[in-house]
Amino acid sequence: MLARVIPLVDHRQLLDRQIAHSLPNTLPTIDVWDRLQRPLRDLRISVTDRCNFRCAYCMPKEVFGTDYPYLPYSSLLNFDEITRVARQFIALGVKKIRLTGGEPLLRKNLEVLLSQLAKLRTPEGEAIDLTMTTNGSLLAHKASALKAAGLNRVTVSLDALDDQVFKRMNDVNFPVARVLDGIEAAQLAGLTNIKVNMVVKRGTNEHEILPMARHFRGTGIALRFIEYMDVGATNGWRMNEVLSSAEVIRLLQTELPLVQLDPSAPGETAERWGYANAQGQYDPALGEVGVISSVTQAFCGDCNRARLSTEGQLYLCLFASQGYDLRQLLRDPAQSDAQLAAAVNAIWSGRTDQYSVLRSLRGPDTASGPGRRVEMSYIGG
Ligand code: SAM
Ligand code: SF4
Ligand code: SF4
Repeated sequence: MLARVIPLVDHRQLLDRQIAHSLPNTLPTIDVWDRLQRPLRDLRISVTDRCNFRCAYCMPKEVFGTDYPYLPYSSLLNFDEITRVARQFIALGVKKIRLTGGEPLLRKNLEVLLSQLAKLRTPEGEAIDLTMTTNGSLLAHKASALKAAGLNRVTVSLDALDDQVFKRMNDVNFPVARVLDGIEAAQLAGLTNIKVNMVVKRGTNEHEILPMARHFRGTGIALRFIEYMDVGATNGWRMNEVLSSAEVIRLLQTELPLVQLDPSAPGETAERWGYANAQGQYDPALGEVGVISSVTQAFCGDCNRARLSTEGQLYLCLFASQGYDLRQLLRDPAQSDAQLAAAVNAIWSGRTDQYSVLRSLRGPDTASGPGRRVEMSYIGG
């Protein structure tokens, strides 16, 4: 049988029973801060480790073949468990929840989960910002049901407009037109603030940067260019395949003048650039692009994101090699909500992760670090 590559779980069980039983019994509603003074604001929940694409930078076919041992259904957090744990995160300061995967739209009845999450409120009584990252392949059929269930907005991944390039990159021969149909369906369904993520790999799709920009300019959809990252342990990452955000902006400027914009929120991962009019000023009607420079410009300093894997492991960094097992607490009838919240509080308060900063100190061509890193398809982007 094929060796399983992921998940990577902390078998030391950091939340051993002794600790769990000593946790307080009243539900805290407080802002928690980690050891580098970063608040907890953003929770990314992976709802499946499966995907119908085989993007080489994420789930290369040679590793994620037909006999790859995905998680059994019983390992997955069910919708009530996800909602329960999300409620505790919100009590500790989370304002935004992003569903991801694998491909989140492969999870059956996802609208049910969305409707449960949409009912949650912050301690101040506000709704949370509920969003999703998807490859868009199933969006055309599902957009209106997702919107009706409470999804606020969506990010669709699309790496090229040219069909041959895109089919090569998703490696399952999936055509661009169906993703574009999905984006259109999302717009028609009333999902706002739609974004498109394009991972740029030197030698693979950099010639698609300008066509993608031309296509989405003036549509109200923000295109974001993501540097190819050294996530996981299976994509064979090399620094010389990274096209830096600075190069992307330079290339765009040769045809489409841009002006830099202020970040829209603290902890924002993308640097924003607005299309300029003939007078060289930002023209909101033309819209904006974003660049996410995870490799060349570390943004750990205000990283406020926690990640929950499909089976309930909490990861404090995209590049972590170990998670914290929340499922054992969720499935222990002796554990109250308050104890669960206190456990999350204790974990976040001890957080010191800043992988990208440390990598830039180590030097440009190193994707190493302690331990084997978890896969992106397991904890989501
Ligand atoms: N399947 C969904 C999708 O593709 O949108 C959601 C999960 S995917 C892991 C989340 C995001 O991570 C996508 O936008 C994808 O392009 C990005 N991603 C995956 N591997 C990456 C890598 N090695 N470098 C940069 N971005 C990556
Ligand atoms: Fe699937 Fe998304 Fe990974 Fe591509 S990036 S293989 S669509 S999970
Ligand atoms: Fe956050 Fe880790 Fe990325 Fe730094 S490397 S920004 S800590 S997820």
